[in-house]
Amino acid sequence: MKVIGLTGGIGSGKSTLLKWFQSKGVPCFESDRVGKDLLNSELKQDVISSFGFKLYPKGILDRKQLAKLVFKDAIALKKLNNIVHPAVGIAFEKFKVENINELLIIKESAILFESGIYKIYDSVILVCASKEKRVLRVMKRDGINRGEVLERMAKQWDDPSKRLLADFVIENNTLEFAKYQLEVIFKKLLMDDKD
Ligand code: ATP
Repeated sequence: MKVIGLTGGIGSGKSTLLKWFQSKGVPCFESDRVGKDLLNSELKQDVISSFGFKLYPKGILDRKQLAKLVFKDAIALKKLNNIVHPAVGIAFEKFKVENINELLIIKESAILFESGIYKIYDSVILVCASKEKRVLRVMKRDGINRGEVLERMAKQWDDPSKRLLADFVIENNTLEFAKYQLEVIFKKLLMDDKD
C-alpha cells in the first residue's frame, strides 16, 4: 500500500480534487473533516475543559468562534493542536489498517509541509493555483473579505517553497486541466506500484 499526501494552500482546491480520487474508488482521509468530527465527539470534553463552553454555544462546535479564538492567540492554537493532532493521527492509523489491502490511500492535509509530516508519505501531490484565484474562491466559499483571506494565507508557506518538496504538482486554475493532470498522476502512481 502506498500512502499519498495531498496538500496545497488555502483555496487551492485540495478538497475538490480529492473528490476525483474518491470517484476512482481510492480511500481518502480528510484530516480537516476528521478533526472537526472529533471536536464534536470524543474531543468535545477536552476542548470544553481547556476553553470553556463558549465554543459550543448550541451544543455543537462553533467553527467561527474557534477560528477567532486561535487565529491571534498562538498559545490557544498550540493547546488546540495538542488536543486535535494526536487524535487525528490515531484516526489515520486506524484508517490505514482498515485499508491495508488497497494499492493507494490518500491523506489530504493543508499543513503537510509546514508540519514536517510530509516525510512519512510515499509521494506528495501539491495543488497550486494563482493567488488571485485562491483569494476569490475563498472569499466566495467562506463569505469573508480579501484581507481575511490574505491573513490566513500569510500563515502558510508560499507555493514556491512547497514546489521544491513535492513529488507531483497539479496546476488547478481550471478544473478541466486539473482533471487531465490527475489522470496522468493516478496512472503513474498505479504503475509504480507494480514495480
Ligand atoms: P481549504 O484549504 O481552505 O480547505 P481547499 O484547498 O480544500 O481549501 P476547495 O475547498 O477544494 O479548496 O476549493 C475552494 C473553492 O474553490 C471551493 O468553493 C471550490 O468549489 C472552488 N474550486 C476549486 N477548484 C476549482 C477550479 N478548478 N475552478 C473553479 N473553482 C474551483
